[in-house]
Amino acid sequence: MPEQLLLQQAVDKVRSLLGKGKVAGYIPALACIDPSKIGIAVTTIDGQTIGAGDYLDPFSIQSISKVFSLTLALNLYTEDEIWSRVGKEPSGHSFNSLVQVELERGKPRNPFINAGALVIADLLQARLGAPKHRMLEVVRQLSQNTTISYDKVVADSEYQFSARNASIAYLMKSFGNFNGDVDTVLKSYFHYCALKMNCADLSRAMFYLANRGKTLDGDSLVSPVQTRQLNALLATSGLYDGAGEFAYRVGMPGKSGVGGGIIAVIPGDMSICVWSPELDVNGNSLAGTAMLEHLSQQLGRSIF
Ligand code: GLN
Repeated sequence: MPEQLLLQQAVDKVRSLLGKGKVAGYIPALACIDPSKIGIAVTTIDGQTIGAGDYLDPFSIQSISKVFSLTLALNLYTEDEIWSRVGKEPSGHSFNSLVQVELERGKPRNPFINAGALVIADLLQARLGAPKHRMLEVVRQLSQNTTISYDKVVADSEYQFSARNASIAYLMKSFGNFNGDVDTVLKSYFHYCALKMNCADLSRAMFYLANRGKTLDGDSLVSPVQTRQLNALLATSGLYDGAGEFAYRVGMPGKSGVGGGIIAVIPGDMSICVWSPELDVNGNSLAGTAMLEHLSQQLGRSIF
């Protein structure tokens, strides 16, 4: 099991990478983040959380929210209802690509690219009276932190610059794979992305992925089989076009967000969250990936 010292070493080791990546610039409210932040937190299977660096600083979780959305959808729909509308394959295109949606007649490759997450947000909108409120309730409970909230400035900023996500949603609508009002669903989707959480919150929230679907409270959020399936999708599609490189270097199911966070899981052992805002060309945290690589080497752990 990792010790605090090991986490501190991971933080210290990757400091030399600062300046080598780029903070996401396409969402103006995200562009002004301090690029030198580095944090890591681990929640072990006994429910203990430890961290190092800026692990208590909240940040914009962005696409990490796609894990929560899919998990919520699995609670509301049958598998057929979900997988008839979204695929399970790695995309090989950027996370906000329109090309593939067109080529594949409106069915997104997987739930972790924007197109797929928008379909999932459409599903949530259809079955939940107040999806934004419900999402907040779920992440607060999973993290055991009632102070978690949405960053309205980030959500508004994304809405103002929503041309690309709106295009993806309308394209899917043209193929009959989007039922709700695009504007309403986009607003919910941007709120999910604008959840503000720290590394400790996220490592705790993702505990169920390491614990056969059971949350820190002992509730069964998803079944053991669904947990395995979620981890399989994370391992193949969680890091976009960098999923192969991530599997090679880190060897854990994971999910990144353009806020610089990455969550990762060692099933049966621990859930992890790292954060450093500078991204690589695929939109994944540069120093975050390096920290996870260091951790997996030091622990001698990989799912492969
Ligand atoms: N909110 C971002 C978007 O929709 C999420 C992208 C990401 O984190 N990769 O573009």
